Amino acid sequence: MLPTNPGGHAAYQDTFVSEFLKFYPDPFVLPKSTWDYIVQFWYLDLSQTDSIMQDCYSVFGPEPRLPSCMLRSYLLALKLKVTSVTLWCRMLKETPLYAILSGFPFSDTPGVGTFYDFFSRIWKDGSPNLSPKDRFPKVKPPKGKKQGDKTPCDSSSTASKLLPLLERWRLKPPNPFSLVFRLYQQQFLDLSIQKKLIVPGHLALAGDGTPVRTAAQQRKKRICDCMEKGCSSCSCRRHYSQPECNWGWDSHRECYFLVTTSTCLWLPIPIVASLYSRF
Ligand SMILES: [Zn+2]
Repeated sequence: MLPTNPGGHAAYQDTFVSEFLKFYPDPFVLPKSTWDYIVQFWYLDLSQTDSIMQDCYSVFGPEPRLPSCMLRSYLLALKLKVTSVTLWCRMLKETPLYAILSGFPFSDTPGVGTFYDFFSRIWKDGSPNLSPKDRFPKVKPPKGKKQGDKTPCDSSSTASKLLPLLERWRLKPPNPFSLVFRLYQQQFLDLSIQKKLIVPGHLALAGDGTPVRTAAQQRKKRICDCMEKGCSSCSCRRHYSQPECNWGWDSHRECYFLVTTSTCLWLPIPIVASLYSRF
């Protein structure tokens, strides 16, 4: 069945208030920090998610969980710094507040499989990766001269090549994360502009990344038979199990790091605050 939410956000708010008073008859015992996120999520209207995601569901089969509740629940998990879906499902089962604030009855919360099913509906591609898995190994760049030195990089020429490339490389509408962008634009960005929190004409965007410390495993394997032929260091294609990941040596922290672009794609939703306008 297709998801239907005739009551919209008001229905979610009404259900939450009545359920909340049932589980927490004296709501003022809850600390201020808890109230802060209750208020945030109570106001967060994600009801357009249900109409935007209609095409992602079949008319056949059982009635699905409301996509707006799945998205709200996932954002609540991120807000509470819970990144494990398994742990979050247990918390939903054990804590009434998390269940009802997500929009689920406390006695009927989704399991791990339902969350992964939702993620696969939101990612508009059969493959979980953007890059091909079989590719040529990266040529090792020359190292910095001293300890702590950065790998020599001609940043002026890198930047001058990047801009024309980005101007030429347009994202086509059916890209795998177009739906994530649409949900973000319609329910966060456009709304922030309407409420004058963001003035598009005075908008400055900044991007930054932080490397994740790892065991420096590139996770690749040979797919050629050069090794059997006696050549141990060929430059043929390798099969990468995590093709989006890039890795390298962080000379400042003195550790290997791994960066994945696909997880970065999820960041725009919770960090709408990172957009700021200059007046
Ligand atoms: Zn080879």
